[in-house]
Amino acid sequence: MSNEQPKIPQATAKRLPLYYRFLKNLHASGKQRVSSAELSEAVKVDPATIRRDFSYFGALGKKGYGYNVHYLLSFFRQTLEEDEVTEVALFGVGNLGTAFLNYNFSKNNNTKIVMAFDVDEQKVGTTVGGVPVYHLDELEERLRGDIPVAILTVPASAAQALTDRLVAQGIKGILNFTPARLNVPDHIRVHHIDLAIELQSLVYFLKNYPSPSAKG
Ligand code: ATP
Repeated sequence: MSNEQPKIPQATAKRLPLYYRFLKNLHASGKQRVSSAELSEAVKVDPATIRRDFSYFGALGKKGYGYNVHYLLSFFRQTLEEDEVTEVALFGVGNLGTAFLNYNFSKNNNTKIVMAFDVDEQKVGTTVGGVPVYHLDELEERLRGDIPVAILTVPASAAQALTDRLVAQGIKGILNFTPARLNVPDHIRVHHIDLAIELQSLVYFLKNYPSPSAKG
């Protein structure tokens, strides 16, 4: 998970997978160039932001020509390390965890959930979406410092103790779907996705900023 382009701003970096997916589709359909207006329409990011983002990649669109799809694709492939699969462990095979295991992310991405953990004896020893479910007691033995990313879909009350164990195992990034706010050392990256808050926030925006052009 090395990152050779530390200069790309975080907001831009977050949009990379979005651009990448769209460009792959374009390439598959035989298109060789794309304008920022077309990209904007497809990924719902305004053209000025796209132009700024792409300038960080060294891709300067030409007026009346647009961007070279092939160039952009090879840049994204390198940056996102498409060839190298990042292994992920999932914790908590409840409703949400099960959905992620069945979905897995390898279809359009360079990440793969390779193992899952739970404390429920009914779930331990089963396979969900092709992924084996182990007992949480086996965390240290199974991870052995080899897996850089964890997805947390456990109850909030279990999240911090689990996180401490993951940190001790050398985890680098945590995608936290629990409502718990996690304490981690500075070198660990946590992305928090609280679906209830996201939904509430969407409803709030719909009520208070009803303009159809308002994008969050
Ligand atoms: P379900 O309907 O299967 O209970 P849920 O998503 O509504 O799913 P939660 O209470 O959020 O249930 O628990 C999610 C999953 O996390 C469950 O499968 C539960 O057994 C598991 N779990 C609970 N505590 C831990 C823990 N400390 N470590 C790993 N998994 C845990």
